[in-house]
Amino acid sequence: MQSYRLEEFNKPFVATESSTPVPCGKEVVVDVSACGLCHSDVHLYEGFFDLGDDAKVDATRIVDPPRTLGHEIVGTVSAIGPDVNNARIGDKRVIFPWIGCGQCGICERGDQHLCNRPAALGLHRDGGFATQVLVPDEEYLIDFGPLPEAQACTYACSGLTAYSALKKVMPFPKEGSLLIIGAGGVGLSAIRLAKSLDLPAPLVAEIDQTKWELAKEAGAADVIDPTAAGVIRDVIKLTRGGVQGALDFVGSGSSFDLGFNTLGKAGTLVSVGLLGGATKISPAMISMKAVNLRGSYVGSLEEMRELMEIARSGNLPDLPVSTKPMTEVNEALQSLRNGQVRGRIVMLP
Ligand SMILES: [Zn+2]
Ligand SMILES: [Zn+2]
Repeated sequence: MQSYRLEEFNKPFVATESSTPVPCGKEVVVDVSACGLCHSDVHLYEGFFDLGDDAKVDATRIVDPPRTLGHEIVGTVSAIGPDVNNARIGDKRVIFPWIGCGQCGICERGDQHLCNRPAALGLHRDGGFATQVLVPDEEYLIDFGPLPEAQACTYACSGLTAYSALKKVMPFPKEGSLLIIGAGGVGLSAIRLAKSLDLPAPLVAEIDQTKWELAKEAGAADVIDPTAAGVIRDVIKLTRGGVQGALDFVGSGSSFDLGFNTLGKAGTLVSVGLLGGATKISPAMISMKAVNLRGSYVGSLEEMRELMEIARSGNLPDLPVSTKPMTEVNEALQSLRNGQVRGRIVMLP
């Protein structure tokens, strides 16, 4: 098999030949047919997540090179372990990558994606920037029905992240307004998913005006410039007292501030993005407005199954994707890093 491996942080992935794994137990080998490129791949490549004020999370604690990144994987089952019951060679499946230890209380509760001993594909184990991937259990394979492969793969991270974040503002009060900050890959997924969860068409805040049209096509009620003067006052006025749900898919100090300061009473801010930065908050405002602050990181296996059921129905508008051959993964990573990407890039081996 061939893979594009991170051997050193901040250095291009290296094309590597190795022997294709032979599955044991419940393991499954999948021939990769598409793998999405995610913003967290950029952070993992750089070797850190910026927290602002010179604080950084060291990605070396997450990824131990050499490692094949890529966690939005679809493909075809090409080999199965002796204990596999349901998966069959030839099955086309999207892979749930957010695997945990499977034994701790968090995993038993169904939150493998939050396990303290994670074994996620494309982070702690080899992922999809390769011709094959070894999946540790058939339970992580999910049917994607009639969806095109380049769409299906995006559900494993950007779609799932959006879905899990949206679920955290539910049940949503009648006539409440929803604010989505950031119309990148994940933000766009959230805009198009909102309707299928019976949430209102969201107000979208996006700095880059070239993304406004995409946001509207995905179902935004309106798009605003978060850097415009008086934006917080305007949003509060427009939403008659503030929003009931704000999803921050950017994760900078200023995006958090926008979400926090436009929340109405008892509203919920869900912090999702990992851009970096810091801000001050006043605990008294949290008390007085009785707001909820929640973090959301990818999503659970159960949520991914729910999401794929919605997706298979074919009612979701397509996410804008551009496909590129896997041989161009290094160039694609750099264009994502430089903010030149609209929607999602999907690599094809
Ligand atoms: Zn991702
Ligand atoms: Zn665990």
